[in-house]
Amino acid sequence: MTMDVSKSETSKNGSTQQECHGCRKTIKERYLLKALDAYWHEDCLKCNCCDCRLGEVGSTLYTKANLILCRRDYLRLFGNTGHCSACNKPIPAFEMVMRAKTNVYHLECFACQQCYHRWLRMP
Ligand SMILES: [Zn+2]
Ligand SMILES: [Zn+2]
Ligand SMILES: [Zn+2]
Repeated sequence: MTMDVSKSETSKNGSTQQECHGCRKTIKERYLLKALDAYWHEDCLKCNCCDCRLGEVGSTLYTKANLILCRRDYLRLFGNTGHCSACNKPIPAFEMVMRAKTNVYHLECFACQQCYHRWLRMP
């Protein structure tokens, strides 16, 4: 899932100080980031993988399985590895796969194929 990051100036009157979702401290800096329905220090909104500051790399961050990631890491971790040779559906990169020669299979699909073959061989 992608989320927009917006940078805004903290209110000057000080009455609505926001707490940083990362370090849980009040944001006293001039600018804050708003993302995932929360507020962040510019230093605290970082990619969980490479620690790059997400307020700088662009205005979009990627979230998945409680991770906050930059685009590059998101694609590396969650891009598709290919298509399952059994069901022809895409296989996400983080999923366990079975590889047989040049074919990749979902674990489930591979197991089913095995059952199927076993079943075929039954008297
Ligand atoms: Zn913080
Ligand atoms: Zn990253
Ligand atoms: Zn499959």
